[in-house]
Amino acid sequence: MNAIPELNGDRFAEFTLPDGCMVCGGEVTIRATPSGAHSYCARCHSLTRPRMRVRGNNLELSYAATASA
Ligand SMILES: [Zn+2]
Repeated sequence: MNAIPELNGDRFAEFTLPDGCMVCGGEVTIRATPSGAHSYCARCHSLTRPRMRVRGNNLELSYAATASA
């Protein structure tokens, strides 16, 4: 399931998700900015732009599905 990191009052943050890479399942660094979120995987060097929602002090990330079952 999705990891929902907690933000301590900050709306802009940088954090890592241990298995957040959609490509290789590696650790990605998420950088949340007012204009959106970027994620970068240090293992496979893939850059993605997940959608980001702020719910209270929680940050919710979702990836656009490119394939559906
Ligand atoms: Zn990766």
